[in-house]
Amino acid sequence: IYLPAIAKGLKITMGHIFKKKATVSYPEQTRPFSPVFRGLHVLNRDEQGREKCTACGLCALACPAEAITMEAAERKKGEEHLYREEKYAARYEINMLRCIFCGYCEEACPKDAVYLSETIMPSNYSRDYFIYKKEDLLITEEQMKKRAATGKG
Ligand code: SF4
Repeated sequence: IYLPAIAKGLKITMGHIFKKKATVSYPEQTRPFSPVFRGLHVLNRDEQGREKCTACGLCALACPAEAITMEAAERKKGEEHLYREEKYAARYEINMLRCIFCGYCEEACPKDAVYLSETIMPSNYSRDYFIYKKEDLLITEEQMKKRAATGKG
């Protein structure tokens, strides 16, 4: 009595065995990102290693989630090798729990000082972990990737 139903079930199973898998074994395997993927932020430096951000605040103004906190300071004599212009961000923080990764901050920046990298925000149990300070953001994309992979914040 059950033979037709078993045969039907087996037919479906056999059909799926040779199909390409829809899933991957994450985290060992990952899929390529979409060209428009937006991940963790990186603060840029210029060719001489000076911070590009001039603390204009446009990124914080453009942010719909109010995730960016910034405090400006004036460059002192002898700090020309650190900051490209007279004003710089003494404090720059992004609350990744608020961020919706829309990329408006990157679009708003006239100095090309911030961009969203291809690094996924790692998970963590602590809320403090998700407050990215200037020193967490002022790194290369490679360093950002490495840090995200090891789960260090
Ligand atoms: Fe704000 Fe969007 Fe930038 Fe996140 S990506 S900090 S939500 S502007």
